Amino acid sequence: MSDLLGQVHAAAGPYLASLASRPVQDSQALSLLAELGGPLPESGDAAEVVERLLRVGTAAGTASAGPRFFHFVTGGVTPAALAADWTAALLDQNAFSKISSPFAHEVEAVALGWLKELFGLPASWGGALVGSATFANFTSLGCATHWWGFQHGVDTAEDGLAELPRMPVLSSGYVHASARKALQMLGHGRNSVTVCARDGVGRVDLGVMRRHLDSLKGAPAVIIANAGEVNAGDFDPVGELADLAREFGCWLHVDGAFGLFARLSPRTSHLVAGVDRADSIAADAHKWLNVPYESGFAFVKDQARLGAAFGMPGAAYLPGPGDPAGGYALYGPESSRRARSLPIFATLAAYGKRGHRDMVERHLDLAQQLAARVDAAPELERLADVQLCIVCFRAVPTGVADLDDFNRRLGAALLADGRVYAGTTVYDGKVALRPAIVNWRTTEADIDVFADVVLELTHKLSQEVGTRAS
Ligand SMILES: *Cc1c(COP(=O)(O)O)cnc(C)c1O
Repeated sequence: MSDLLGQVHAAAGPYLASLASRPVQDSQALSLLAELGGPLPESGDAAEVVERLLRVGTAAGTASAGPRFFHFVTGGVTPAALAADWTAALLDQNAFSKISSPFAHEVEAVALGWLKELFGLPASWGGALVGSATFANFTSLGCATHWWGFQHGVDTAEDGLAELPRMPVLSSGYVHASARKALQMLGHGRNSVTVCARDGVGRVDLGVMRRHLDSLKGAPAVIIANAGEVNAGDFDPVGELADLAREFGCWLHVDGAFGLFARLSPRTSHLVAGVDRADSIAADAHKWLNVPYESGFAFVKDQARLGAAFGMPGAAYLPGPGDPAGGYALYGPESSRRARSLPIFATLAAYGKRGHRDMVERHLDLAQQLAARVDAAPELERLADVQLCIVCFRAVPTGVADLDDFNRRLGAALLADGRVYAGTTVYDGKVALRPAIVNWRTTEADIDVFADVVLELTHKLSQEVGTRAS
């Protein structure tokens, strides 16, 4: 076995060293994927299998852990987090309960405590480490559902939703698809969200939200505040939504997948002011904390709600609610689970509060650098203020009639080129690029490469469009 691990270790050094300069995606190398298929073998050779996975993976894999992957919101992996993730695989703990692994349980307890400290949240809150922000939204809204059923005199964990009306959910146009997906998985349906937006960007209309709440005539409801929306990194006014939630007796959930990290810098903490008045918060560690996938986390103000919503009493061989031998499986959606706390623990311990604040502030600076490059280029147009780590802009070359079509082509050309990655979106009705900067490896030089490649492809594409037109 240690020879196999030696193969991985030998590949790691050169691969990690290559991240600073390799393309995000080498499209030529994708032909290697053919080496993975075929029928299930009768038998095989582990050394050959690992050699093949490493050879194909290091060539054809997407360098999303590298410094020039700006698509979605994608962090990398810090050295401490990577080593701790290898440790988690080595020890193969089941972080189900204190019996299945007292070690994993303890690391998780410490990691959750430190996360609360990092974000300035009360130590008394409950928490759950889950696979993603989608599952953190699921966990949070699962608790909200249980709370809401309780307001109607129904224990939804016991009896489900059948006796209940539809759960009212209100949010701005910033509500993330994964919050809708969570509502869909919880049986409310993704259309349960009433969007209260005042413009095409999706900014919240507090007056409309208030009128909706009034029309509920005291029936309990859930408000979702979005702290860091994905197109431009904007924020709902969490404090004002918290005021509404208090006035109308609502559950306030905050989706802060990456935006919660605005708490770490005095330059941006005002953007999430009031987040500590939420009932639940969802966030991701595999984004701005720079730990490996799959890593999200949820905080719930009323700790007991997690156990009420996610406990699974009734199996004689398992710990029941309140059992001191219980553990985090009784406070979240999963049962058996890997020790995903180890990389979180290690990265927080290794780089500390200051390390994480410095990283966030470096990314704030890099986002401003990119905004300045966009503003300086006549063929580019910035579409939104850069408050955090996302720069929303589009190409506006002269003589191009259909800018949406052009920017869609530009987005496709960026991915086909592969030197840098960014994705397109539709912002206020306009097709735009929305690079997000949350990788600890990204430098000023990487931002310049990104801007240079975008300009190069914009010129190339506008010549092609011009040639076609003439
Ligand atoms: C990324 C993101 C999510 C979903 O996160 P996953 O980890 O991909 O499940 C939810 N909300 C927001 C605001 C996000 O940016």
